[in-house]
Amino acid sequence: MRSSRVSTRVRALKPSETLALGARARELRAQGHSVISFAAGEPDFDTPEDVREAGIQAIRAGHTRYTAVGGVPELRAAIVENLKRENGLTYKPGQIVVSNGAKHAIWNAFLTLVEPGDQVLCPVPYWVTFPELVRLVGGEPVFVPSRKGSMKIGPEDLERAITKRSKLLVMNSPNNPSGAVYSREELAAIGEIVVRHGLYVLSDEIYEQLVFGSARHVSIASLSPELFDRTIVIGGVSKTWAMTGWRIGFAAAPADLAEGIERLQGQSTSNPAAVSQYAALRAYTGPRESVRAMRECFAHRRDFIVRRLSAMRGITLVPPEGAFYAFPDLGERIGAARNGVTDSAGLSDFLIDEARIVCVPGSAFGMEGHLRLSYAIGDQDIEEGLNRLEAALDRM
Ligand code: PMP
Repeated sequence: MRSSRVSTRVRALKPSETLALGARARELRAQGHSVISFAAGEPDFDTPEDVREAGIQAIRAGHTRYTAVGGVPELRAAIVENLKRENGLTYKPGQIVVSNGAKHAIWNAFLTLVEPGDQVLCPVPYWVTFPELVRLVGGEPVFVPSRKGSMKIGPEDLERAITKRSKLLVMNSPNNPSGAVYSREELAAIGEIVVRHGLYVLSDEIYEQLVFGSARHVSIASLSPELFDRTIVIGGVSKTWAMTGWRIGFAAAPADLAEGIERLQGQSTSNPAAVSQYAALRAYTGPRESVRAMRECFAHRRDFIVRRLSAMRGITLVPPEGAFYAFPDLGERIGAARNGVTDSAGLSDFLIDEARIVCVPGSAFGMEGHLRLSYAIGDQDIEEGLNRLEAALDRM
């Protein structure tokens, strides 16, 4: 038998569970089933009208050629301005590299910073892509468990996981999948360990605009000049402006790292789509009413889903403070199941088969016993889906 001709590195990649479950939901719908999918990783809203119009105008104006590798100067300047205003961060336009979505920016950053054999610290729960990309660049993901009963790591958890080979810490606040938002004090305590051990930080702040209640987004890079010099900030328009299909994200980094990222991009993918860059420029510089309206809508849904899940028997939920996910712990219900369900993947399958609701198992994010429910879906679907969840769990 011929051995696989797919490289070992690519063979080792896990398929994206979130994307696979989304596909399964579409398949069941096509067969005529009424499916409610809590698997969405993108806002259910349309890109704001003025942003779409800017994209159309960009085509008409002939912005259809290569641009500077790291993005057009106007967009880089707008991102600089935005990082200053929102997060108190001071970059020069050359320190911003615009890429094909935040995911591409993260890939670039890992490839630029991580040497084969380096350890990359990933707090649990983590976004599915982080460990996969770390392995792909030859690094070793090291998982840092959260504090008990919490969705965040403390400085002691980080320090325990550090070895001589530790290179980089991956922070993601607001967090996918838990919705956790780190406070300034929590980040300062972690930042102190980072500086003391000479680590770097990749800070994925893609959900920075989606924080609710009294939570405030703080960028770890803003806490001290030392941390600024050790951090690559990742951001983009996908979530805030419902622009997932436009594929625009960025890395903001110290000059030497930004230069490396730009060189890598120059030899791999070149600039992201010119038209999308002009739409993103409008997003960063235009009115923010639609962003505010989307955020309010997410805040209402968050309150609703927190109330409902918290009232369900045998479910514990650390209330999410940001992003658009709830990540309840159903370990008790799984433990009491009499129908053969023994883990979160089994529970996810059971819910698809029995209730036609799609939730992503916690195992995908390194936390067994949990389910991730996205509330980037319509209000009525959320309500109906939660009714189905509650009823199905009682049949388990
Ligand atoms: N980071 C996190 C934490 C995410 O949840 C996502 C989207 N699922 C991304 C990055 C990727 O964003 P983009 O679509 O801009 O590549």
